[in-house]
Amino acid sequence: MSANQDQEIESYVHARESAVRSYSRAFPTVFTSAKGAFLHDEAGRTYIDFLAGAGALNFGHNHDVLKAALVKYVEDDGLTHGLDLHTAAKETFLRTFTQQILEPRGLDHHVQFTGPTGANAVEAALKVARRATGRTGVLAFMGGYHGHSLGSLAVTANRDHRAAAGIDLPGATFVPFPGGEVDSLAYLRMLLDDTHSGVALPAAIIVETVQAEGGVNVAPVEWLRDLRRLCSQRDIVLIVDEIQTGVGRTGPYFSFERAGIIPDVVTVSKSISGFGLPMALTLLRPELDVWQPGEHTGTFRGNQLAFVTATAAIDLFATEEIEDRVAAHSALISTWLQRLDPRLGHRGIGAMWGVDTAASDPTGTLARDVARRCFNDGLVIERTGRNDTVLKILPPLTISELILDEGLDILHAAVRSCLA
Ligand code: PMP
Repeated sequence: MSANQDQEIESYVHARESAVRSYSRAFPTVFTSAKGAFLHDEAGRTYIDFLAGAGALNFGHNHDVLKAALVKYVEDDGLTHGLDLHTAAKETFLRTFTQQILEPRGLDHHVQFTGPTGANAVEAALKVARRATGRTGVLAFMGGYHGHSLGSLAVTANRDHRAAAGIDLPGATFVPFPGGEVDSLAYLRMLLDDTHSGVALPAAIIVETVQAEGGVNVAPVEWLRDLRRLCSQRDIVLIVDEIQTGVGRTGPYFSFERAGIIPDVVTVSKSISGFGLPMALTLLRPELDVWQPGEHTGTFRGNQLAFVTATAAIDLFATEEIEDRVAAHSALISTWLQRLDPRLGHRGIGAMWGVDTAASDPTGTLARDVARRCFNDGLVIERTGRNDTVLKILPPLTISELILDEGLDILHAAVRSCLA
């Protein structure tokens, strides 16, 4: 096929796909295969992957152990679809998840299989909190991100995303996240305790322990503990959204473990299947499991193939010593960040870090140029935060230190050249 014909096909494909596409605009190539921390495209180029499926690929691409479990299950004619029927794949996952993840952490939560997106796990969390408390309001945080379905969008802060709904998004009051100029907790207390604050006692507070899409903003441990206390004292359901921070991204299996708190409701998705297969869970303290049968239903609750890889991924979390690896990655990345141009800010935890270009260029052009340069040099890295000013370092947790270092070198060179 001639290069011209190739281009024609490409423009035809692009003309056909909805204008809503986004990542493909930032990384304009056709990817053909992927393994571990590497992506390959049709031109034969290789990229180091610091995007990791936006947090869905903590175990990297096509991990051999997960792939083998999946292939065997399909070859054995295991169910590929089962609504929420009891299946061997589901039972095995539930037992493994209970014994290896929930029980050792003292979590007696019930496991709700929601539709397979993070947004649907958030929908379920909000609905059940409202149902259990009989209240309607929810407090959410400025900079927070919880999904694009109407309920989850109502607690997502980004104005552009919200505007796309084309309809009012009621029910949420946004409050400052820690790290800014306002004492976030004092503000919260004032809202809740002042009978003239104009805000009714909410059903829930929803929080990310590290705001990922908000620009990698890390909530301090003490703040998380105070938030837990505040919710307990006022009978407010504390929902922790672990969709991006969970499954070892910050080190421990759940990111809230670092604060020693137990949320009432936890949303989990992205890397729970380990293999990039769609799957989501909402974990509920038993007394909050007030659902009537079928009240939050859906055809794809419980992706059988994802159950199989998720079960294998729970073993991998231990055998690959993910928590130790993340600690090593964290040390390597934070040391590397010290060498960064002082005009740029940085922050993060575990294996999620942000390089903040806002002080040099609040419009986001600098970050965009750096990300483009990285892509040309063989590194896929996403932009996030206000005006997309933060470059998000989100490698697979299984990445070797050598490749991690190589990726950071590409980023370093791109930053230097764009600042010059
Ligand atoms: N919550 C958080 C913290 C997320 O990062 C995301 C996805 N970026 C979501 C919810 C929504 O998940 P999904 O895109 O699967 O609906």
